[in-house]
Amino acid sequence: MHYNLAQLLTEPTGSTRDYDVDGSFTGPENGSGQAQGWVRVIRTHQGVLVRAKLETQVKLTCSRCVSEFEYRPVLAMEEESFATVDLVTGKKTDPPEEAEGVIHLDGQHILDMSEVLRQYVITEVPIKPLCREECLGLCQECGANLNEEKCKCTATPIDPRWESLADLLTEKQE
Ligand SMILES: [Zn+2]
Ligand SMILES: [Zn+2]
Repeated sequence: MHYNLAQLLTEPTGSTRDYDVDGSFTGPENGSGQAQGWVRVIRTHQGVLVRAKLETQVKLTCSRCVSEFEYRPVLAMEEESFATVDLVTGKKTDPPEEAEGVIHLDGQHILDMSEVLRQYVITEVPIKPLCREECLGLCQECGANLNEEKCKCTATPIDPRWESLADLLTEKQE
């Protein structure tokens, strides 16, 4: 997911490049992430505008049951990046003050989308990730994953959600 924009940067403002993305990047927790979608790069006065729509899949660890699960954020981005080296003079250029995004071209004018994705996905990840909303977590006594098994530590009370269902069933039988 490295795109060389040196040629594009010599072209007039408004010139574009389109890239299909289907690749991997370093996800949160240093696992492997996957991304599919498109990237469009448009030449601007001082650099390039990067637009992208990407479906991503990364592995996260559930904060309740500690099992690994797949998290699939969809990223839409539109961000201007400023060239760090002037193409004509080869001198370093100072990006404008307001440039504080995560997209930076290196001295070879390479757009590293895997690095951009890594940073975007970090901002999408919940502070306490859950494998599912109603994750039951681990038993505090024996550490059993209560999503997968019922441990025998305590007699589990009937889940209130099932009580009303039980009522319904008895009504039907009458
Ligand atoms: Zn969980
Ligand atoms: Zn237990």
